[in-house]
Amino acid sequence: MPASEVDTETGLLTDSFGRTARDLRVSLTDRCNLRCSYCMPAEGLPWLPDEQTLTDDEVLRLLAVAVERLGVRKLRFTGGEPLLRASLERLVAGAHQLVTHEGRPPEITLTTNGLGLDKRLSGLVAAGLDRVNVSLDSLDRQRYAALTRRDRLPDVLASLRAVEQAGLTPIKVNAVIMREVNTDDIVPLATFALERGYQLRYIEQMPLGPKHSWDRRQMVTAAEILEALGEHFTLTPLDEPRGAAPAELWQVHPTEQTPGGIIGVIASVSAPFCGSCDRTRITSDGQVRNCLFSQVETDLRGLLRRGATDDELALAWRGSHLTKGPGHGIDLPGFHQPDRPMSAIGG
Ligand code: SAM
Ligand code: SF4
Repeated sequence: MPASEVDTETGLLTDSFGRTARDLRVSLTDRCNLRCSYCMPAEGLPWLPDEQTLTDDEVLRLLAVAVERLGVRKLRFTGGEPLLRASLERLVAGAHQLVTHEGRPPEITLTTNGLGLDKRLSGLVAAGLDRVNVSLDSLDRQRYAALTRRDRLPDVLASLRAVEQAGLTPIKVNAVIMREVNTDDIVPLATFALERGYQLRYIEQMPLGPKHSWDRRQMVTAAEILEALGEHFTLTPLDEPRGAAPAELWQVHPTEQTPGGIIGVIASVSAPFCGSCDRTRITSDGQVRNCLFSQVETDLRGLLRRGATDDELALAWRGSHLTKGPGHGIDLPGFHQPDRPMSAIGG
């Protein structure tokens, strides 16, 4: 639909608290080639059968509804591991053809563990990929292998170099810090990122991995991460409006050994940013989730396969957002971890 015909007054994903979702996380698969201990059990999970996974055409139809009817501006492909989707280039190219309410293609990004990204990067960039976030929790090969249960650190580093050469800036690196697992990586990861001009973002571990594996008292908090960094670097809060961005950004001052730069801390648990959330999500089996932690989903795949029109899909998606809660409530007494783990929701 041409942008001029879109009803921008009524067509947005606005919830009952006045937040509007502009950023869509699209999970392309629940499968993964790593087994990060905060995300998946060693044996993996019961994967979705192929027939329940959205086809490429179904994904592209939902993306068109989101961007051209519902006002979504940013698309982030994720999973599971999105590079396991052989048709990722086709999906990026299809997404790049869409026109936002502002008359531009949506911003297209990828969150990936980086395995094999170097080999596919040029095709993805040609298709319209704008940026990537690469997950990297340790620079110590043994610790990386223990944490992800696969000895693949060299592959991730090769991919980061390829992203740097392709000039896809800013290059964001995500690190989840776990007590007695990779706290010794806090400073080396910062040094590594600053030396290369990457934007490192530490993420507090959330209760979205194997059931009963998360303990609030054991979680490494943003405050602890900042304290560890403060012993080596001088940090000042970046004086910029944060908007809906999850990361609190810090300016790191240069030292004699290390250049300065920007580091982010995502305090999802200790300082939630739900009040300014602008996310909506679809799982690889076509369920809309209005929050990572929601207990209910809206079945767009069922609607699609029963022949729903774009109007009907948009209406159902908007209905999902009207029920979005004020926050995830991890710290509230009645909190229940969602049945789906992070890898099946799309992080
Ligand atoms: N496989 C890709 C990757 O690892 O980047 C994309 C999917 S992964 C679920 C997306 C992000 O979620 C990663 O940065 C990962 O570190 C993060 N993540 C996974 N489980 C988490 C948890 N329990 N708490 C916080 N972050 C988590
Ligand atoms: Fe795979 Fe990403 Fe989960 Fe690690 S965090 S197991 S790479 S989906």
